[in-house]
Amino acid sequence: MVQIQIPAELLPVDGRFGSGPAKVRAEALEYLSMRGDIMGTSHRQAPVRSLVAAVQEELADLYDIPDGYEVVLGNGGSTLFWDMAVSSLVENRSAHGVFGEFSRKFASASAAAPHLADPAVFEAEPGSVALPEPGDADVFAWAQNETSTGAAAPVLRIGDGLVVIDATSAAGGMEADISETDVYYFAPQKNFSSDGGLWLAFASPAAIERAERIKASGRWIPQSLDFTLAVASSRQHQTLNTPALATLLLLEDQLGWMLELGGIEAVAARCAQSSGVLYEWAEKRAFASPFVPHPGFRSPVVATLDLVDGVDSKALIAALRSNGIVDIDPYRALKRNQLRVGCYASVDPEDVEALTACIDYVVDRL
Ligand SMILES: *Cc1c(COP(=O)(O)O)cnc(C)c1O
Repeated sequence: MVQIQIPAELLPVDGRFGSGPAKVRAEALEYLSMRGDIMGTSHRQAPVRSLVAAVQEELADLYDIPDGYEVVLGNGGSTLFWDMAVSSLVENRSAHGVFGEFSRKFASASAAAPHLADPAVFEAEPGSVALPEPGDADVFAWAQNETSTGAAAPVLRIGDGLVVIDATSAAGGMEADISETDVYYFAPQKNFSSDGGLWLAFASPAAIERAERIKASGRWIPQSLDFTLAVASSRQHQTLNTPALATLLLLEDQLGWMLELGGIEAVAARCAQSSGVLYEWAEKRAFASPFVPHPGFRSPVVATLDLVDGVDSKALIAALRSNGIVDIDPYRALKRNQLRVGCYASVDPEDVEALTACIDYVVDRL
């Protein structure tokens, strides 16, 4: 492979454009080291519990969650949350909008559960969006942002059951009316620029009541998958078992930064600006084009760009990586000649502009 050296003046200040985990701001890492006193102390004592309470309050503030909704958290990330929902929130049957690998995983978890009826699956091709249709189901689930394809879906009430939204890569980068949902769950390693391993959720009174009713029915639910126990711990500003304190500290710093920036509206505008730079740039290039055909479904937080056959994404990605621009690989299962760029909150729109200049520079020389 030929070595291509991109001139320093073209390079972004920060070359991390991953879709998850994603760029952590230097200021957040500084904050983490300043709070070294709290590391290695008990999560059952006041200092960590007030850290958890601050995270809960700031999240509630960021999304202006309705009265009666609670901020619930636990260990295991969004993947664990699918198993928890199957164990503790789906009563008999779920319905799913499937339009990529992440939205498919929840549907698969539900299909594998022996205590549930087969889920209703409404599927669309990668690059498009499918929502579940109202009907015989008690949970309606889809992803607000399908990170594997860069397609974004609306968040709105469907059917009579609980609306359970995977906002792992949308939360902190896209607006949402939480009253349209019963569970809006996410993890902190994307827009929130923290580490993975935690899940967080806004839960409606109906969702909490559902979990209590299922538990009272006598269904066997492992402790770690029992939503009622997560709610009980969260009300005490704790988690069922030991959380990663550094993750909570990074998240707390990011939330303070987001609120200072002007809240979710301002952060969402910043993300849309970054992804807009890429979509507009790709429209103007003969060798690139937005993967999602319908502009209304193009994600503001994860931009996917198809390349023509003459430009090999693997070679381009490798050349960029050797210049410090990392993690713009497409989702592996999609198997496309594509770039996928995380345009999360922490990414500077000016760095996205610089990224386009670097791509032009490398493509000219490949
Ligand atoms: C990243 C991601 C997940 C997986 O999150 P984990 O915390 O790694 O389990 C799930 N859903 C979506 C939409 C994601 O982007």
